[in-house]
Amino acid sequence: MPGDAAKSDHQRVDQSAWFGGNNILRETPGTAQFPWLQVGLVGGFQTVILTPPSRARWRPSRGGSLLVVRPVFLFLSRLTWLRSWLETSAAARRLASRFVAGETLEDALAVGRRLKAEGIALTLDRLGESVTSLDEAAAARDEYLRAIETIEQSDAERNVSLKLTQFGLDLSGDACRANVEQLVRRAAQLGGFVRVDMESSGYVDRTLNLVTDLYARYRAVGTVVQSYLYRAQADVENLCDLGIPVRLCKGAYLESASAAFPNKADVDLNYVKLMKILLDRGNYPAIATHDERMIAETKAFAAARKVPRESFEFQMLYGIRRDLQRQLVAEGYRLRLYVPFGKAWYPYYMRRLAERPANVLFVLRNLFRR
Ligand SMILES: Cc1cc2nc3c(=O)[nH]c(=O)nc-3n(C[C@H](O)[C@H](O)[C@H](O)COP(=O)(O)OP(=O)(O)OC[C@H]3O[C@@H](n4cnc5c(N)ncnc54)[C@H](O)[C@@H]3O)c2cc1C
Repeated sequence: MPGDAAKSDHQRVDQSAWFGGNNILRETPGTAQFPWLQVGLVGGFQTVILTPPSRARWRPSRGGSLLVVRPVFLFLSRLTWLRSWLETSAAARRLASRFVAGETLEDALAVGRRLKAEGIALTLDRLGESVTSLDEAAAARDEYLRAIETIEQSDAERNVSLKLTQFGLDLSGDACRANVEQLVRRAAQLGGFVRVDMESSGYVDRTLNLVTDLYARYRAVGTVVQSYLYRAQADVENLCDLGIPVRLCKGAYLESASAAFPNKADVDLNYVKLMKILLDRGNYPAIATHDERMIAETKAFAAARKVPRESFEFQMLYGIRRDLQRQLVAEGYRLRLYVPFGKAWYPYYMRRLAERPANVLFVLRNLFRR
């Protein structure tokens, strides 16, 4: 597709963030909601500049202590220069290991074996969104094929999660479709399952179209709905009508108020509403959250409607809220962990930092520890 709409958010931000001249500051498209966040060259160095928000010009996006942390880290998650610098740093890699199972498929499978022993299922995610060549996209597809072939040797289910920008969506819609189709076809032959993650809002239509087509042909595929999007309810209802399995999450990207609820309270309310639709009418929905209130609402609704525990599952991210994970399993609920592995951990890790200010303090403490 020609034009700006076909470019990834990452490309758009990076192009406007890199500009010539000294001491120039410019607001980037990705920061239009946050006029106090700017990128520019100061004395020849690219710099992120934070100016205290004026109440008149900016309103919080997700409430409480996430006020400043979330948009800053989501913005940083899209800077490719910072990504290449940190992904090659051994110290930064050590920090990322809290949320990432390791660099190789074998590392992730070892984690899978441990989880299985605790009664927890997994979905494997090979990190590496927004590839910049079709060769990289093909390599990602081949690594996923290897995962789906070998996963069972580790006594785990053949269940993987992928991002379409990793399979080449920004470069060629056709190549991306062919890559994903090859994987979904193989998963269907082996009795496995492919979850197509949801990225930022510019990708939603293309993701849903691709998943709908593949589901009609192979079944072994599902996708994700983000409760922060205004369109989420219409998407959930449509996916339920088609029988496509949905993972419900709140949403992890930097979105404008024209696409997503700016207030956390609205995101949470919508989450509960969508959870109820999914538990009533969905095909094996996945309730993906670490939010104790969302989990309690889900348990209460399932009990009131006598929804069998085998007809849905909770999902959480590797490395987050182990206490809650153990508790759900002990109570007899199904739980699946999203287990990422690979070298390209930076955007994933920054989104996890964005979700909780305490994570940032943890990083700072460790950076200054010898
Ligand atoms: C299995 C799974 C798959 C996902 N797939 C997608 C996807 O495809 N697309 C997408 O946009 N998003 C995805 N997400 C991320 C999701 O959108 C949220 O950003 C993330 O789950 C945090 O939201 P929450 O529901 O946990 O609630 P929040 O209100 O953000 O957090 C509730 C509580 O959970 C704990 N918590 C949450 N995040 C963290 C963290 N990073 N570190 C430590 N504690 C934390 C804290 O105790 C916090 O108070 C996925 C999440 C999960 C669990």
